[in-house]
Amino acid sequence: MSETAGDAKPEVKQASKEVKESENVAEKYSAMTVSKNSEINMGELSSVFSAVPTHKPVKKQIQFVEEKQEFSRFPTKTGRRSLSRSISQSSTDSYSSAASYTDSSDDETSPRDKTQVNSKGSSDFCVKNIKQAEFGRREIEIAEQDMSALISLRKRAQSEKPLAGAKIVGCTHITAQTAVLIETLVALGAQCRWTACNIYSTQNEVAAALAERGVAAFAWKGESEDDFWWCIDRCVNTEGWQPNMILDDGGDLTHWVYKKYPNVFKKIRGIVEESVTGVHRLYQLSKAGKLCVPAMNVNDSVTKQKFDNLYCCRESILDGLKRTTDVMFGGKQVVVCGYGEVGKGCSAALKALGAVVYVTEIDPICALQACMDGFRVVKLNEVIRLVDVIITCTGNKNVVTRDQLDRMKNGCIVCNMGHSNTEIDVASLRTPELTWERVRSQVDHVIWPDGKRVILLAEGRLLNLSCSTVPTFVLSITATTQALALIELYNAPEGRYKQDVYLLPKKMDEYVASLHLATFDAHLTELTDEQAKYLGLNKNGPFKPNYYRY
Ligand code: NAD
Repeated sequence: MSETAGDAKPEVKQASKEVKESENVAEKYSAMTVSKNSEINMGELSSVFSAVPTHKPVKKQIQFVEEKQEFSRFPTKTGRRSLSRSISQSSTDSYSSAASYTDSSDDETSPRDKTQVNSKGSSDFCVKNIKQAEFGRREIEIAEQDMSALISLRKRAQSEKPLAGAKIVGCTHITAQTAVLIETLVALGAQCRWTACNIYSTQNEVAAALAERGVAAFAWKGESEDDFWWCIDRCVNTEGWQPNMILDDGGDLTHWVYKKYPNVFKKIRGIVEESVTGVHRLYQLSKAGKLCVPAMNVNDSVTKQKFDNLYCCRESILDGLKRTTDVMFGGKQVVVCGYGEVGKGCSAALKALGAVVYVTEIDPICALQACMDGFRVVKLNEVIRLVDVIITCTGNKNVVTRDQLDRMKNGCIVCNMGHSNTEIDVASLRTPELTWERVRSQVDHVIWPDGKRVILLAEGRLLNLSCSTVPTFVLSITATTQALALIELYNAPEGRYKQDVYLLPKKMDEYVASLHLATFDAHLTELTDEQAKYLGLNKNGPFKPNYYRY
Protein backbone atom coordinates (compact mmCIF):
# COMPACT_ATOMS: atom_id res chain seq x y z
CA MET A 1 0.00 0.00 0.00
CA SER A 2 1.51 3.23 -0.90
CA GLU A 3 -0.94 5.68 -2.24
CA THR A 4 0.22 9.18 -1.60
CA ALA A 5 -1.79 12.15 -0.54
CA GLY A 6 -1.19 15.74 -1.15
CA ASP A 7 0.11 15.89 -4.66
CA ALA A 8 -1.52 15.46 -8.00
CA LYS A 9 -2.08 11.92 -9.20
CA PRO A 10 0.67 11.07 -11.65
CA GLU A 11 -0.43 9.57 -14.88
CA VAL A 12 0.77 6.01 -15.13
CA LYS A 13 1.52 4.91 -18.62
CA GLN A 14 -0.20 1.58 -18.92
CA ALA A 15 1.33 0.65 -22.22
CA SER A 16 4.44 -0.76 -20.68
CA LYS A 17 6.18 -3.82 -22.01
CA GLU A 18 4.52 -7.16 -21.48
CA VAL A 19 6.97 -9.98 -21.28
CA LYS A 20 6.17 -12.79 -23.66
CA GLU A 21 4.88 -15.64 -21.53
CA SER A 22 7.04 -18.16 -23.31
CA GLU A 23 10.19 -16.31 -22.38
CA ASN A 24 10.18 -16.15 -18.65
CA VAL A 25 10.03 -17.96 -15.37
CA ALA A 26 6.27 -17.59 -15.42
CA GLU A 27 6.21 -20.23 -18.12
CA LYS A 28 7.55 -22.63 -15.58
CA TYR A 29 4.76 -21.66 -13.23
CA SER A 30 2.30 -23.08 -15.68
CA ALA A 31 2.79 -26.45 -14.07
CA MET A 32 1.80 -25.04 -10.72
CA THR A 33 -1.82 -25.51 -10.01
CA VAL A 34 -3.88 -25.90 -6.94
CA SER A 35 -4.33 -29.62 -6.76
CA LYS A 36 -7.62 -31.29 -6.01
CA ASN A 37 -7.07 -31.29 -2.28
CA SER A 38 -6.42 -27.57 -2.65
CA GLU A 39 -2.78 -27.79 -1.59
CA ILE A 40 -0.19 -26.23 -3.83
CA ASN A 41 1.46 -29.12 -5.62
CA MET A 42 4.85 -29.28 -3.96
CA GLY A 43 6.49 -31.54 -6.49
CA GLU A 44 5.60 -29.24 -9.32
CA LEU A 45 6.61 -26.19 -7.39
CA SER A 46 10.03 -27.45 -6.44
CA SER A 47 10.68 -28.49 -10.00
CA VAL A 48 9.88 -24.94 -10.97
CA PHE A 49 12.43 -23.58 -8.63
CA SER A 50 15.04 -26.11 -9.67
CA ALA A 51 14.45 -24.89 -13.18
CA VAL A 52 15.14 -21.32 -12.15
CA PRO A 53 18.79 -20.64 -12.91
CA THR A 54 20.54 -19.52 -9.74
CA HIS A 55 23.69 -17.53 -9.84
CA LYS A 56 25.29 -19.23 -6.93
CA PRO A 57 23.85 -22.71 -6.57
CA VAL A 58 24.68 -22.88 -2.89
CA LYS A 59 22.27 -25.20 -1.17
CA LYS A 60 22.78 -24.38 2.43
CA GLN A 61 19.97 -24.72 4.90
CA ILE A 62 18.51 -21.44 6.12
CA GLN A 63 18.91 -21.01 9.85
CA PHE A 64 17.60 -17.66 10.83
CA VAL A 65 18.89 -17.60 14.35
CA GLU A 66 22.44 -18.61 13.51
CA GLU A 67 22.50 -16.63 10.31
CA LYS A 68 24.48 -13.47 10.43
CA GLN A 69 24.69 -11.39 7.34
CA GLU A 70 28.15 -10.29 6.47
CA PHE A 71 27.84 -6.56 6.55
CA SER A 72 30.82 -4.51 7.49
CA ARG A 73 30.44 -1.52 9.71
CA PHE A 74 29.10 1.41 7.84
CA PRO A 75 31.11 4.53 7.29
CA THR A 76 29.67 7.84 8.39
CA LYS A 77 29.65 9.80 5.20
CA THR A 78 26.34 11.50 5.57
CA GLY A 79 26.19 13.68 8.58
CA ARG A 80 23.17 15.56 9.79
CA ARG A 81 23.43 18.26 7.27
CA SER A 82 20.24 19.00 5.51
CA LEU A 83 19.98 16.94 2.36
CA SER A 84 19.24 18.65 -0.87
CA ARG A 85 16.11 16.87 -2.07
CA SER A 86 13.11 17.47 0.12
CA ILE A 87 11.23 14.60 1.60
CA SER A 88 8.63 13.03 -0.63
CA GLN A 89 4.95 13.25 0.14
CA SER A 90 4.63 9.49 0.28
CA SER A 91 7.20 9.36 3.01
CA THR A 92 5.13 11.66 5.21
CA ASP A 93 1.77 10.02 4.75
CA SER A 94 0.90 8.19 7.86
CA TYR A 95 0.36 4.54 7.02
CA SER A 96 -1.42 3.59 10.15
CA SER A 97 -2.41 5.30 13.33
CA ALA A 98 -1.62 2.07 15.10
CA ALA A 99 1.75 1.70 13.42
CA SER A 100 3.71 1.01 16.54
CA TYR A 101 2.18 -0.59 19.56
CA THR A 102 5.07 0.20 21.81
CA ASP A 103 5.12 3.43 23.72
CA SER A 104 8.47 4.99 23.12
CA SER A 105 7.56 8.36 24.57
CA ASP A 106 9.73 7.67 27.64
CA ASP A 107 12.82 7.49 25.45
CA GLU A 108 13.41 10.67 23.51
CA THR A 109 17.03 9.88 22.58
CA SER A 110 17.47 9.68 18.82
CA PRO A 111 18.40 6.16 17.72
CA ARG A 112 21.30 7.77 15.87
CA ASP A 113 22.79 8.76 19.22
CA LYS A 114 22.61 5.29 20.71
CA THR A 115 25.02 2.39 20.41
CA GLN A 116 23.05 -0.81 20.22
CA VAL A 117 24.07 -4.39 19.53
CA ASN A 118 21.94 -7.42 18.88
CA SER A 119 22.44 -10.70 20.70
CA LYS A 120 24.97 -11.81 18.04
CA GLY A 121 27.10 -8.74 18.65
CA SER A 122 26.19 -6.94 15.42
CA SER A 123 25.53 -3.23 15.45
CA ASP A 124 24.79 -2.91 11.74
CA PHE A 125 21.33 -1.45 12.23
CA CYS A 126 19.64 1.60 13.71
CA VAL A 127 16.29 1.07 15.40
CA LYS A 128 14.46 2.70 18.29
CA ASN A 129 15.17 -0.01 20.85
CA ILE A 130 16.67 -3.43 20.11
CA LYS A 131 15.20 -4.68 23.40
CA GLN A 132 11.75 -4.64 21.81
CA ALA A 133 12.78 -7.48 19.47
CA GLU A 134 10.86 -10.20 21.30
CA PHE A 135 7.65 -8.21 21.15
CA GLY A 136 8.24 -7.52 17.47
CA ARG A 137 8.78 -11.22 16.83
CA ARG A 138 5.30 -11.94 18.20
CA GLU A 139 3.85 -9.29 15.89
CA ILE A 140 5.59 -10.92 12.92
CA GLU A 141 4.27 -14.34 13.95
CA ILE A 142 0.73 -12.97 14.09
CA ALA A 143 1.13 -11.51 10.58
CA GLU A 144 2.49 -14.84 9.30
CA GLN A 145 -0.81 -16.48 10.20
CA ASP A 146 -2.64 -14.49 7.53
CA MET A 147 0.19 -14.61 4.99
CA SER A 148 0.21 -18.33 4.44
CA ALA A 149 0.69 -18.03 0.68
CA LEU A 150 3.93 -16.13 1.14
CA ILE A 151 5.01 -18.58 3.82
CA SER A 152 4.25 -21.50 1.50
CA LEU A 153 6.36 -19.86 -1.23
CA ARG A 154 9.12 -19.47 1.37
CA LYS A 155 8.95 -23.09 2.51
CA ARG A 156 8.82 -24.57 -0.94
CA ALA A 157 11.54 -22.45 -2.52
CA GLN A 158 13.99 -22.11 0.32
CA SER A 159 15.93 -25.27 -0.47
CA GLU A 160 16.49 -23.96 -4.02
CA LYS A 161 17.58 -20.52 -2.87
CA PRO A 162 16.51 -18.65 -6.02
CA LEU A 163 17.83 -15.42 -4.50
CA ALA A 164 21.28 -16.76 -3.54
CA GLY A 165 23.74 -13.97 -4.19
CA ALA A 166 21.04 -11.29 -4.34
CA LYS A 167 21.87 -8.22 -2.31
CA ILE A 168 18.58 -6.45 -1.92
CA VAL A 169 18.24 -2.96 -0.61
CA GLY A 170 14.65 -2.24 0.32
CA CYS A 171 12.61 0.81 1.19
CA THR A 172 9.06 -0.03 2.27
CA HIS A 173 6.83 0.47 5.27
CA ILE A 174 8.45 -1.49 8.08
CA THR A 175 5.56 -3.38 9.60
CA ALA A 176 4.97 -6.94 10.69
CA GLN A 177 3.71 -7.79 7.20
CA THR A 178 6.75 -6.43 5.36
CA ALA A 179 8.95 -8.21 7.88
CA VAL A 180 7.39 -11.47 6.67
CA LEU A 181 8.38 -10.49 3.13
CA ILE A 182 11.93 -9.50 4.12
CA GLU A 183 12.43 -12.74 6.04
CA THR A 184 11.09 -14.67 3.05
CA LEU A 185 13.69 -13.02 0.80
CA VAL A 186 16.40 -13.93 3.31
CA ALA A 187 15.12 -17.52 3.43
CA LEU A 188 15.36 -17.64 -0.36
CA GLY A 189 19.03 -16.70 -0.18
CA ALA A 190 19.10 -12.89 -0.32
CA GLN A 191 21.04 -10.52 1.89
CA CYS A 192 18.85 -7.56 2.79
CA ARG A 193 19.37 -4.05 4.06
CA TRP A 194 16.14 -2.24 4.76
CA THR A 195 14.81 1.22 5.46
CA ALA A 196 11.38 2.80 5.84
CA CYS A 197 9.58 4.57 3.01
CA ASN A 198 7.52 6.56 5.50
CA ILE A 199 8.70 8.49 8.53
CA TYR A 200 5.65 7.59 10.64
CA SER A 201 4.77 4.04 9.69
CA THR A 202 7.57 1.98 11.24
CA GLN A 203 6.57 -0.51 13.90
CA ASN A 204 9.58 0.00 16.18
CA GLU A 205 9.34 -3.44 17.71
CA VAL A 206 9.26 -5.07 14.26
CA ALA A 207 12.35 -3.15 13.15
CA ALA A 208 14.02 -4.39 16.34
CA ALA A 209 13.00 -7.99 15.60
CA LEU A 210 14.48 -7.73 12.10
CA ALA A 211 17.73 -6.28 13.45
CA GLU A 212 17.90 -9.05 16.02
CA ARG A 213 17.67 -11.63 13.21
CA GLY A 214 20.55 -10.02 11.33
CA VAL A 215 18.70 -7.81 8.85
CA ALA A 216 20.39 -4.42 8.65
CA ALA A 217 17.27 -2.37 9.43
CA PHE A 218 17.52 1.41 9.61
CA ALA A 219 14.15 2.82 10.65
CA TRP A 220 12.10 4.11 13.53
CA LYS A 221 8.75 5.78 13.96
CA GLY A 222 8.91 9.58 13.84
CA GLU A 223 12.09 10.04 11.85
CA SER A 224 13.01 13.57 10.81
CA GLU A 225 13.56 14.37 7.16
CA ASP A 226 17.29 14.22 7.75
CA ASP A 227 16.95 10.86 9.51
CA PHE A 228 14.93 9.55 6.57
CA TRP A 229 17.69 10.18 4.05
CA TRP A 230 20.39 9.17 6.51
CA CYS A 231 18.70 5.76 6.92
CA ILE A 232 18.46 5.31 3.16
CA ASP A 233 22.11 6.20 2.79
CA ARG A 234 23.16 3.78 5.52
CA CYS A 235 21.46 0.97 3.65
CA VAL A 236 23.20 1.70 0.37
CA ASN A 237 26.52 3.12 1.40
CA THR A 238 28.26 0.45 3.40
CA GLU A 239 31.76 -0.92 3.06
CA GLY A 240 32.17 -4.28 1.38
CA TRP A 241 28.55 -4.59 0.32
CA GLN A 242 26.93 -3.35 -2.82
CA PRO A 243 23.27 -3.88 -3.65
CA ASN A 244 22.33 -5.62 -6.89
CA MET A 245 18.54 -5.42 -6.50
CA ILE A 246 16.17 -2.67 -5.32
CA LEU A 247 12.73 -3.13 -3.82
CA ASP A 248 11.12 0.27 -3.51
CA ASP A 249 7.82 1.79 -2.46
CA GLY A 250 7.56 5.41 -3.52
CA GLY A 251 10.77 5.75 -5.54
CA ASP A 252 12.85 7.58 -2.92
CA LEU A 253 15.46 4.84 -2.60
CA THR A 254 15.73 4.42 -6.37
CA HIS A 255 16.12 8.18 -6.74
CA TRP A 256 18.80 8.28 -4.05
CA VAL A 257 20.87 5.49 -5.61
CA TYR A 258 20.41 6.98 -9.08
CA LYS A 259 21.55 10.43 -7.99
CA LYS A 260 24.17 9.68 -5.34
CA TYR A 261 25.62 6.38 -6.46
CA PRO A 262 25.40 6.26 -10.27
CA ASN A 263 28.02 3.50 -10.47
CA VAL A 264 26.05 1.32 -8.08
CA PHE A 265 22.85 2.11 -9.97
CA LYS A 266 24.35 0.93 -13.25
CA LYS A 267 25.14 -2.46 -11.74
CA ILE A 268 21.67 -3.05 -10.30
CA ARG A 269 20.13 -6.12 -11.89
CA GLY A 270 16.54 -5.07 -11.36
CA ILE A 271 14.18 -2.70 -9.57
CA VAL A 272 10.79 -3.73 -8.24
CA GLU A 273 8.47 -0.78 -7.52
CA GLU A 274 5.14 -0.94 -5.78
CA SER A 275 3.64 2.54 -5.70
CA VAL A 276 1.86 4.77 -8.22
CA THR A 277 4.35 7.55 -7.52
CA GLY A 278 7.44 5.36 -7.82
CA VAL A 279 6.21 3.75 -11.01
CA HIS A 280 5.53 7.18 -12.47
CA ARG A 281 9.10 8.22 -11.68
CA LEU A 282 10.44 5.07 -13.36
CA TYR A 283 8.43 5.74 -16.51
CA GLN A 284 9.80 9.29 -16.54
CA LEU A 285 13.37 7.98 -16.26
CA SER A 286 12.68 5.47 -18.99
CA LYS A 287 11.17 8.14 -21.24
CA ALA A 288 14.23 10.33 -20.74
CA GLY A 289 16.44 7.36 -21.70
CA LYS A 290 18.05 7.42 -18.24
CA LEU A 291 16.81 4.11 -16.89
CA CYS A 292 19.79 1.81 -17.28
CA VAL A 293 18.28 -1.20 -15.48
CA PRO A 294 15.12 -3.24 -15.95
CA ALA A 295 12.28 -2.43 -13.59
CA MET A 296 9.11 -4.28 -12.70
CA ASN A 297 5.94 -2.28 -12.12
CA VAL A 298 4.02 -4.35 -9.59
CA ASN A 299 1.58 -1.51 -8.90
CA ASP A 300 -0.32 -2.20 -12.08
CA SER A 301 -0.49 -5.96 -11.78
CA VAL A 302 -4.07 -7.21 -11.51
CA THR A 303 -3.56 -8.85 -8.15
CA LYS A 304 -2.31 -5.57 -6.71
CA GLN A 305 -4.87 -3.24 -8.32
CA LYS A 306 -7.99 -5.26 -7.69
CA PHE A 307 -7.19 -6.32 -4.18
CA ASP A 308 -5.65 -3.10 -2.93
CA ASN A 309 -8.35 -0.86 -4.35
CA LEU A 310 -11.54 -2.88 -4.07
CA TYR A 311 -11.17 -5.44 -1.31
CA CYS A 312 -8.78 -3.52 0.90
CA CYS A 313 -10.93 -0.37 0.82
CA ARG A 314 -14.07 -2.44 1.39
CA GLU A 315 -12.67 -3.40 4.78
CA SER A 316 -10.56 -0.44 5.76
CA ILE A 317 -13.25 2.21 5.18
CA LEU A 318 -15.20 0.77 8.10
CA ASP A 319 -12.08 0.45 10.24
CA GLY A 320 -11.06 4.06 9.58
CA LEU A 321 -14.52 5.47 10.30
CA LYS A 322 -15.03 3.39 13.44
CA ARG A 323 -11.65 4.15 14.96
CA THR A 324 -12.04 7.87 14.49
CA THR A 325 -15.74 8.46 15.17
CA ASP A 326 -17.32 5.30 16.70
CA VAL A 327 -20.17 5.94 14.28
CA MET A 328 -22.96 3.37 13.92
CA PHE A 329 -23.69 2.72 10.25
CA GLY A 330 -27.16 1.14 10.40
CA GLY A 331 -29.71 3.56 8.92
CA LYS A 332 -27.16 6.31 8.29
CA GLN A 333 -27.32 8.16 4.97
CA VAL A 334 -23.99 8.02 3.21
CA VAL A 335 -22.86 9.43 -0.11
CA VAL A 336 -19.91 7.86 -1.90
CA CYS A 337 -18.41 10.09 -4.61
CA GLY A 338 -16.94 7.98 -7.41
CA TYR A 339 -17.91 4.40 -8.24
CA GLY A 340 -14.56 3.03 -9.41
CA GLU A 341 -12.80 0.20 -7.57
CA VAL A 342 -12.42 2.13 -4.31
CA GLY A 343 -15.97 3.52 -4.43
CA LYS A 344 -17.39 0.07 -5.15
CA GLY A 345 -15.58 -1.35 -2.12
CA CYS A 346 -16.72 1.46 0.19
CA SER A 347 -20.34 1.36 -1.03
CA ALA A 348 -20.59 -2.42 -0.64
CA ALA A 349 -19.24 -2.35 2.92
CA LEU A 350 -21.56 0.42 4.06
CA LYS A 351 -24.60 -1.14 2.41
CA ALA A 352 -23.84 -4.43 4.15
CA LEU A 353 -24.02 -2.67 7.52
CA GLY A 354 -27.43 -1.19 6.79
CA ALA A 355 -26.44 2.29 5.67
CA VAL A 356 -28.51 4.02 2.98
CA VAL A 357 -25.90 4.64 0.29
CA TYR A 358 -26.03 7.22 -2.51
CA VAL A 359 -23.43 7.34 -5.27
CA THR A 360 -22.23 10.24 -7.42
CA GLU A 361 -20.52 9.60 -10.75
CA ILE A 362 -19.47 11.42 -13.90
CA ASP A 363 -19.11 8.26 -16.00
CA PRO A 364 -22.33 6.69 -17.31
CA ILE A 365 -20.84 3.17 -17.26
CA CYS A 366 -19.87 3.36 -13.61
CA ALA A 367 -23.17 5.11 -12.83
CA LEU A 368 -25.07 2.26 -14.48
CA GLN A 369 -23.03 -0.26 -12.52
CA ALA A 370 -24.02 1.57 -9.32
CA CYS A 371 -27.69 1.47 -10.35
CA MET A 372 -27.48 -2.26 -11.09
CA ASP A 373 -25.84 -2.81 -7.70
CA GLY A 374 -28.84 -1.16 -6.07
CA PHE A 375 -27.52 2.32 -5.29
CA ARG A 376 -29.27 5.63 -6.00
CA VAL A 377 -27.10 7.71 -8.31
CA VAL A 378 -27.51 11.39 -7.47
CA LYS A 379 -25.82 14.73 -7.80
CA LEU A 380 -24.09 15.67 -4.57
CA ASN A 381 -26.20 18.82 -4.26
CA GLU A 382 -29.40 16.74 -4.18
CA VAL A 383 -28.40 15.00 -0.94
CA ILE A 384 -25.94 17.41 0.62
CA ARG A 385 -28.38 18.53 3.36
CA LEU A 386 -29.48 14.98 4.21
CA VAL A 387 -26.39 12.87 4.50
CA ASP A 388 -24.55 11.83 7.65
CA VAL A 389 -21.32 10.75 5.97
CA ILE A 390 -19.56 11.88 2.77
CA ILE A 391 -16.73 9.80 1.31
CA THR A 392 -14.74 10.88 -1.75
CA CYS A 393 -13.08 8.18 -3.90
CA THR A 394 -12.59 9.84 -7.28
CA GLY A 395 -8.91 10.71 -7.64
CA ASN A 396 -10.24 14.10 -8.75
CA LYS A 397 -10.05 17.55 -7.13
CA ASN A 398 -12.68 19.81 -5.55
CA VAL A 399 -15.31 17.08 -5.51
CA VAL A 400 -16.65 18.54 -2.27
CA THR A 401 -16.59 22.35 -2.37
CA ARG A 402 -16.79 25.00 0.34
CA ASP A 403 -20.31 25.82 -0.74
CA GLN A 404 -21.32 22.21 -0.14
CA LEU A 405 -19.49 22.11 3.18
CA ASP A 406 -21.53 25.18 4.18
CA ARG A 407 -24.78 23.35 3.44
CA MET A 408 -24.03 20.07 5.25
CA LYS A 409 -25.99 19.24 8.34
CA ASN A 410 -24.62 19.44 11.84
CA GLY A 411 -22.41 16.45 12.68
CA CYS A 412 -21.81 15.37 9.10
CA ILE A 413 -18.64 13.27 8.78
CA VAL A 414 -16.46 14.12 5.77
CA CYS A 415 -13.56 11.99 4.62
CA ASN A 416 -11.51 11.00 1.60
CA MET A 417 -10.32 7.62 0.32
CA GLY A 418 -8.77 8.91 -2.92
CA HIS A 419 -5.18 9.66 -3.71
CA SER A 420 -5.14 13.38 -3.34
CA ASN A 421 -6.00 15.56 -0.34
CA THR A 422 -7.65 18.07 -2.65
CA GLU A 423 -10.81 15.99 -3.27
CA ILE A 424 -12.37 17.87 -0.37
CA ASP A 425 -11.63 21.58 -0.50
CA VAL A 426 -10.04 21.58 2.94
CA ALA A 427 -8.03 24.73 2.22
CA SER A 428 -11.29 26.70 1.95
CA LEU A 429 -12.09 25.77 5.56
CA ARG A 430 -9.06 27.56 6.89
CA THR A 431 -10.75 30.93 7.21
CA PRO A 432 -11.15 33.19 10.27
CA GLU A 433 -14.91 32.68 10.69
CA LEU A 434 -14.51 28.92 11.15
CA THR A 435 -13.05 27.39 14.30
CA TRP A 436 -11.04 24.18 14.16
CA GLU A 437 -11.13 21.94 17.20
CA ARG A 438 -8.87 18.87 17.28
CA VAL A 439 -10.97 16.33 19.20
CA ARG A 440 -8.89 13.22 18.62
CA SER A 441 -5.83 12.31 16.60
CA GLN A 442 -6.85 12.76 12.93
CA VAL A 443 -10.29 14.10 13.88
CA ASP A 444 -11.15 17.81 13.60
CA HIS A 445 -14.43 19.51 14.34
CA VAL A 446 -14.80 22.47 12.03
CA ILE A 447 -17.26 24.82 13.70
CA TRP A 448 -19.39 27.42 11.85
CA PRO A 449 -20.43 30.70 13.55
CA ASP A 450 -23.94 29.29 14.20
CA GLY A 451 -22.45 26.32 16.07
CA LYS A 452 -22.76 23.79 13.27
CA ARG A 453 -19.97 21.21 13.31
CA VAL A 454 -18.58 19.22 10.43
CA ILE A 455 -16.35 16.29 11.42
CA LEU A 456 -13.34 16.24 9.13
CA LEU A 457 -11.15 13.14 9.19
CA ALA A 458 -7.40 13.09 8.53
CA GLU A 459 -7.60 16.65 7.17
CA GLY A 460 -8.89 15.23 3.91
CA ARG A 461 -6.01 12.81 3.39
CA LEU A 462 -6.58 9.14 2.68
CA LEU A 463 -8.67 7.92 5.59
CA ASN A 464 -7.55 4.33 5.67
CA LEU A 465 -3.85 5.02 5.32
CA SER A 466 -4.06 7.68 8.01
CA CYS A 467 -6.50 6.19 10.51
CA SER A 468 -6.65 2.43 10.21
CA THR A 469 -4.54 -0.58 9.44
CA VAL A 470 -4.56 -2.47 6.17
CA PRO A 471 -5.67 -6.12 6.20
CA THR A 472 -2.72 -8.49 6.36
CA PHE A 473 -4.12 -10.79 3.69
CA VAL A 474 -4.08 -8.01 1.09
CA LEU A 475 -0.49 -7.24 1.99
CA SER A 476 0.34 -10.93 1.54
CA ILE A 477 -0.86 -10.69 -2.05
CA THR A 478 1.30 -7.66 -2.74
CA ALA A 479 4.30 -9.14 -0.91
CA THR A 480 4.07 -12.42 -2.84
CA THR A 481 3.94 -10.42 -6.07
CA GLN A 482 7.03 -8.47 -5.01
CA ALA A 483 8.94 -11.62 -4.07
CA LEU A 484 8.15 -13.25 -7.43
CA ALA A 485 9.09 -10.10 -9.34
CA LEU A 486 12.46 -10.05 -7.56
CA ILE A 487 13.04 -13.74 -8.31
CA GLU A 488 12.11 -13.21 -11.95
CA LEU A 489 14.33 -10.16 -12.46
CA TYR A 490 17.24 -11.67 -10.56
CA ASN A 491 17.19 -14.96 -12.43
CA ALA A 492 16.25 -13.76 -15.90
CA PRO A 493 18.85 -14.64 -18.50
CA GLU A 494 20.71 -11.73 -20.03
CA GLY A 495 18.64 -9.94 -22.62
CA ARG A 496 15.20 -11.00 -21.44
CA TYR A 497 14.65 -7.65 -19.78
CA LYS A 498 15.98 -4.50 -21.31
CA GLN A 499 16.38 -1.09 -19.72
CA ASP A 500 12.69 -0.48 -19.40
CA VAL A 501 9.65 -0.81 -17.14
CA TYR A 502 7.77 -4.10 -17.34
CA LEU A 503 4.45 -5.33 -16.08
CA LEU A 504 4.39 -8.61 -14.25
CA PRO A 505 3.58 -11.42 -16.69
CA LYS A 506 -0.05 -12.47 -16.33
CA LYS A 507 0.94 -16.01 -15.48
CA MET A 508 2.71 -14.75 -12.40
CA ASP A 509 -0.38 -12.77 -11.43
CA GLU A 510 -2.37 -15.95 -11.78
CA TYR A 511 0.22 -17.83 -9.76
CA VAL A 512 0.02 -15.27 -6.92
CA ALA A 513 -3.75 -15.73 -6.89
CA SER A 514 -3.50 -19.51 -6.95
CA LEU A 515 -1.15 -19.50 -3.97
CA HIS A 516 -3.76 -17.58 -1.99
CA LEU A 517 -6.63 -19.87 -2.93
CA ALA A 518 -5.38 -22.55 -0.57
CA THR A 519 -6.33 -20.30 2.37
CA PHE A 520 -9.98 -20.68 1.40
CA ASP A 521 -9.83 -24.37 0.51
CA ALA A 522 -10.92 -23.23 -2.94
CA HIS A 523 -10.81 -25.91 -5.62
CA LEU A 524 -10.04 -24.80 -9.18
CA THR A 525 -11.70 -26.55 -12.09
CA GLU A 526 -9.17 -27.86 -14.60
CA LEU A 527 -9.79 -27.48 -18.31
CA THR A 528 -10.20 -30.69 -20.25
CA ASP A 529 -8.05 -31.05 -23.37
CA GLU A 530 -11.16 -30.56 -25.45
CA GLN A 531 -12.18 -27.40 -23.56
CA ALA A 532 -8.66 -25.94 -23.75
CA LYS A 533 -8.65 -26.51 -27.50
CA TYR A 534 -12.13 -24.99 -27.82
CA LEU A 535 -11.09 -21.81 -25.97
CA GLY A 536 -7.63 -21.72 -27.51
CA LEU A 537 -5.95 -21.75 -24.09
CA ASN A 538 -3.03 -23.51 -22.53
CA LYS A 539 -4.42 -25.71 -19.75
CA ASN A 540 -1.99 -24.07 -17.32
CA GLY A 541 -2.81 -20.51 -18.25
CA PRO A 542 -2.68 -17.65 -18.80
CA PHE A 543 -6.45 -17.84 -18.78
CA LYS A 544 -7.25 -14.34 -19.94
CA PRO A 545 -5.89 -11.97 -22.58
CA ASN A 546 -4.03 -8.91 -21.32
CA TYR A 547 -6.96 -6.63 -22.10
CA TYR A 548 -9.37 -8.60 -19.92
CA ARG A 549 -10.82 -6.34 -17.22
CA TYR A 550 -11.81 -8.80 -14.46
P1 NAD B 1 -11.20 4.67 -10.59
O1 NAD B 1 -10.69 5.49 -11.69
O2 NAD B 1 -11.54 3.24 -10.83
O3 NAD B 1 -12.50 5.36 -9.94
C1 NAD B 1 -12.67 6.74 -9.76
C2 NAD B 1 -14.10 7.08 -10.20
O4 NAD B 1 -14.40 8.40 -9.84
C3 NAD B 1 -14.29 6.94 -11.70
O5 NAD B 1 -15.32 6.03 -11.98
C4 NAD B 1 -14.63 8.36 -12.15
O6 NAD B 1 -15.55 8.37 -13.20
C5 NAD B 1 -15.21 8.95 -10.88
N1 NAD B 1 -15.14 10.42 -10.80
C6 NAD B 1 -14.17 11.25 -11.24
N2 NAD B 1 -14.49 12.53 -10.96
C7 NAD B 1 -15.66 12.51 -10.31
C8 NAD B 1 -16.49 13.51 -9.75
N3 NAD B 1 -16.18 14.81 -9.80
N4 NAD B 1 -17.65 13.13 -9.16
C9 NAD B 1 -18.00 11.83 -9.11
N5 NAD B 1 -17.26 10.83 -9.63
C10 NAD B 1 -16.09 11.17 -10.21
O7 NAD B 1 -10.11 4.74 -9.42
P2 NAD B 1 -10.06 3.85 -8.10
O8 NAD B 1 -9.18 2.68 -8.31
O9 NAD B 1 -11.41 3.66 -7.55
O10 NAD B 1 -9.24 4.85 -7.16
C11 NAD B 1 -9.83 6.06 -6.75
C12 NAD B 1 -8.82 6.86 -5.95
O11 NAD B 1 -8.44 6.12 -4.78
C13 NAD B 1 -7.52 7.11 -6.70
O12 NAD B 1 -7.09 8.39 -6.38
C14 NAD B 1 -6.58 6.05 -6.17
O13 NAD B 1 -5.24 6.47 -6.27
C15 NAD B 1 -7.03 5.96 -4.74
N6 NAD B 1 -6.73 4.67 -4.05
C16 NAD B 1 -6.87 4.67 -2.72
C17 NAD B 1 -6.64 3.50 -2.02
C18 NAD B 1 -6.77 3.50 -0.53
O14 NAD B 1 -6.31 2.55 0.10
N7 NAD B 1 -7.41 4.48 0.04
C19 NAD B 1 -6.29 2.32 -2.67
C20 NAD B 1 -6.19 2.36 -4.03
C21 NAD B 1 -6.42 3.53 -4.73
